[in-house]
Amino acid sequence: MAEFQERVFSGVQPTGNLHLGNYLGAIKRFVELQNRYDCIYCVVDLHAITVWQEPEELTRNIRELTAAYLACGIDPKQHIIFNQSQVSEHAELAWVFNCVARLGWLNRMTQFKEKAGKDREAASVGLYAYPCLMAADILAYRATHVPVGEDQKQHLELTRDIAQKFNNDFAARIRALGFGDAFFPLTEPLISGPATRIMSLRDGTKKMSKSDTSDYSRINLTDSADDIAQKFRKARTDPHPLAHDEKELEKRPEADNLVGIYAALADRTKAGVLSEFGGAQFSRFKEALTELAVAKLGPIGAEMKRLVQDPRYLDSVLIDGAGRARAIASETMKAVKNICGFVRA
Ligand code: ATP
Ligand code: MG
Repeated sequence: MAEFQERVFSGVQPTGNLHLGNYLGAIKRFVELQNRYDCIYCVVDLHAITVWQEPEELTRNIRELTAAYLACGIDPKQHIIFNQSQVSEHAELAWVFNCVARLGWLNRMTQFKEKAGKDREAASVGLYAYPCLMAADILAYRATHVPVGEDQKQHLELTRDIAQKFNNDFAARIRALGFGDAFFPLTEPLISGPATRIMSLRDGTKKMSKSDTSDYSRINLTDSADDIAQKFRKARTDPHPLAHDEKELEKRPEADNLVGIYAALADRTKAGVLSEFGGAQFSRFKEALTELAVAKLGPIGAEMKRLVQDPRYLDSVLIDGAGRARAIASETMKAVKNICGFVRA
């Protein structure tokens, strides 16, 4: 297999209500990867419009997510932060991938089924084609590693299938043009640690989500200390004290979720957390969890609120990042056009 330069790409949708799941499953890990890789972190605004967005609110949410990236510690000079719609190669490559991916592949995507709900006929074509755009986001940079939450695993498998089929379909052209035996890498998902799937605080079987109508289902990054305390206090649990043993958590999704949140926030393992709190009542554990969450999220929320006061600065970060992203993506797109046989200047 051809050698690819190691590069990290990931994105979050600017759809408001950034929550603890986005932080622990994605953004916190984006920050950690900065020391080991060249990283590109995208505000995926084209994905956001797969469901209706009020234009003014979309603008606000793009800036708020940019502020969150910065407040969590992503360095926009060493790495790249930008919004997707400023680099048109994402949409262009997505079209090519729409023609590579098969209907049968997309029909298996569980996110579409969940988001479209019962009235599938009324869902946008974009919501259905979403995974092809996601593949384009990643492969426009020929990224080798993608940190995401567990819910995105299936889409990353599709990204690998698309890369593989493109590499196979055009194998002769790819070799003739000097790209060796593969033009696109088979991207590796980075899904690990105790917080790959944070669950709703109201229902231990549903993922914590921006689009959940109940604000009590999630901890938002901009929640006050009082909000955080109240939401954890009301969080659903079972009547038993905390287990000593991780195995026991398997049958107790709400307890498992809260222990996982604690472990991820404290950079500890679930077993380590249970060795401290095993046998404790939830009331005591929830107090400790609240204290930890307030200590970790408080400064992030405060910095986000400060940064959103300065939209000109946030926009300048996105414009600068988009320029550097475009330089990479346009090279990929030129090569893809050559591989496909399009005529160009
Ligand atoms: P929506 O419900 O609108 O899809 P979302 O909360 O899933 O919103 P996304 O922007 O789709 O947010 O996802 C951004 C990143 O956060 C992805 O890497 C996703 O896997 C991760 N993520 C989302 N929810 C969770 C969660 N509950 N636990 C861990 N990671 C999560
Ligand atoms: Mg999502």
